[in-house]
Order: sequence, then C-alpha cells, then structure tokens
Amino acid sequence: MAFNWETTTILPEWNHILVNSNAFSLELLPYNPATPGLRQIKPICNKCPSNSPKRILPLRNQYTYKLTTNYIAYLKANHKTTWQELGFNTKGKQAIPSSTASSSQTSTTGPLDQLVIQRQKAIFPGTINSKELARLTIKYIVANNLSFNTAILPTFKELIKRLNPDIVAPSQYYLYQEIDTYYTEQNQLFKQKLYLHMQNKGTFTLCLDNWTSLNQKAYLGITIHWINAKDWTLQSYILRLENLYKQHSGENLYTSLLQILKEYNIQNNIFSITRDNASNNNTLISEFR
Ligand SMILES: [Zn+2]
Repeated sequence: MAFNWETTTILPEWNHILVNSNAFSLELLPYNPATPGLRQIKPICNKCPSNSPKRILPLRNQYTYKLTTNYIAYLKANHKTTWQELGFNTKGKQAIPSSTASSSQTSTTGPLDQLVIQRQKAIFPGTINSKELARLTIKYIVANNLSFNTAILPTFKELIKRLNPDIVAPSQYYLYQEIDTYYTEQNQLFKQKLYLHMQNKGTFTLCLDNWTSLNQKAYLGITIHWINAKDWTLQSYILRLENLYKQHSGENLYTSLLQILKEYNIQNNIFSITRDNASNNNTLISEFR
C-alpha cells in the first residue's frame, strides 16, 4: 500500500545515525492544501541552544528530508565535535589521496558526492560527475515519459556500473532535488528565447486544450509557437501543463492563462490562440480580447 503523505501525522521511521544519535529531530508540518501531495518537514538541530535561531534548518519535504549532505555540512560548520563523534570526518577522508582532492566544490554536492567525483577524477580523468549523470538520467526519463523508478531499477544500475564501476547511479532523492534546479535553469533559458523574439518585434501563437487525466485531475495544456526571425525555423514548446484546481469555467481558464502569460511577460505579444470550440473556451477568448 502506498504511503499517504497528505493524511499522515507521523514521519516514517528513518534509521539513520543523524536522527538516531539525536543530533537532529524532524517535525512533520501540517498538510497544506495549496501544495497537494507535498508535506513539509522541519529539521531541528538538537545541538544548538533552544533559543538559537540557527537550530531550525531550511524546510525539507518528503522527497528531500533524507538527503544527508546538508545535515552533515551543517554539523561540520556548527558542531564540529558532534560531526567527529559521528565519524563523518573519517568517512569524508577515506581513500582520497590528498593530491587529487579538488577545491572546486559546488554548492549542490556534499562530502559523499565529492568522494565519488574525486575517485572518478583520479581513475578516469575527464569522466562524468554525479550531477551530470543525474541530469542525463532526468533527460532520459522525461524525454521518454518514463517513471522516476527507472533510475533505481537494478538493471539500470547494472548498466551504469558496467560502463564505469566507480560511478554510482543517482538515487531518486538526488533526482527529485536536481530536477528542480534543472527546470529552473532551462526555464530561464526559455524566457531569454521569448524575450529575444519580442526584441525582434515577434509575436507568439498558442494552442490550448483541456484535458482530464485518468485520476480525474483537470489540466490546461498550452503550447507556444513562433517563427524564428533569423533562420525562419518554426519553434514549438510546451508552455505549461497547468493543474486546474477550480471549476474550468471560461473565466477561470482565462485567469490561469493570463497568469501564465504574465509569468513569461508575453501577455501583450499573442498573435493568435487555437482551441476547440467548447463553450468555456469561447468565454476565455472573449475575455482575452
Ligand atoms: Zn545546531
């Protein structure tokens, strides 16, 4: 039976030294209907005095609360004795010759990732790092409409391991975290494309379709199209697959659409909208005019 995050009042047991040693407590925050399916989790440092503002760590959710990297980094920076007592100092140093230790740490990778990267660099110069592997895995999963479980299938791990025994296939928690960063970056590049086209006095055309998924969730699908002024190539992208919480009346569809267009700052550069002639769509179009 699947775990229901929306209704649970307790966190599932996490048998990890960080919580078992009572260095951190995790508090499950009340369910917020504004973020369906997502539960926020508040990590609290028990090593800090109870009046210290630092003791509340950034909020996590059910996908990210088990990512240990930042907890360990926090301990190292704020409670070095605890960090040593729990043995993280020895884990971080194991098997890395000091000459290969890299100083180019990025903020999204922690000691364990660094260990993997450094070992890879030492053995196969120029080989893939865990972030790049995570991104390629995300690309593979998204482009082929696969389940995220693909990444943790034993046969997928076998494939990765066969290609390079020193690479560890990304965990699903790492993927969940990385996909957000990846999306934000790609979205920024996409916004730049739209902006450049508008600078060239270009306009956009949209296609809309309302759709209800198998689990009875309503969506508004929006695709965007334009002709590139430089080389006359047709550009087509999915602008959004918006989950509609409200009834899909024409007014509500219009509000959702306008909000999305404003997010991309293209609300004044729409040349045409193609849609089917459901009556709510007709209301949407007359509102848009
Ligand atoms: Zn603390």
